[in-house]
Amino acid sequence: MFSLSQFPLPFARDALEPYISARTIEFHYEKHLGGYINNLNNLITGTEFENMPLADIIKNSSGKLFNNAAQVFNHDFFFKCLEKDGNYAPVPGQEKIKSDIRAAATPFFGSGWVWLLSDGTVITTANADTPVAHRQTPALALDLWEHAYYLDYQNRRADFVDIFLEHLVNWDIVSKGLNS
Ligand code: MN
Repeated sequence: MFSLSQFPLPFARDALEPYISARTIEFHYEKHLGGYINNLNNLITGTEFENMPLADIIKNSSGKLFNNAAQVFNHDFFFKCLEKDGNYAPVPGQEKIKSDIRAAATPFFGSGWVWLLSDGTVITTANADTPVAHRQTPALALDLWEHAYYLDYQNRRADFVDIFLEHLVNWDIVSKGLNS
């Protein structure tokens, strides 16, 4: 069984303001991630998945169980990638990473994610799909579901993507992910 406390936010609820409001973080972390965890627990209770590590559930499931397990991983990873105006030396290739992420996010339709992988490539996944399911290692995640930005940016998803890239990426995490 999983609990929200196993996936702690690495910052205070209001730490990303004004770029992401405390209200967005409260809903995103407690209601969305919390909801995926509750669903996951309900789906694994009494099954072969009950005591399985999260990554193994993702690699061995489909449908609702996959969606909820993958979203738990995706959100935990995304939140760990966030820091407001972190003061880091630029990561090699950082400007290309930013332009690749913008280019991937701009035409993306619907709900999903943009990922920088450990090999430096940028991909998108639809809905709950996750690099973990494809034996890929993520170095950075960007949540493109409307719930990630709608309270603060409404329909202006491109503005959210720009703010994410310019103010919210923990480049230390990215650097470690690229060298993993
Ligand atoms: Mn989300």
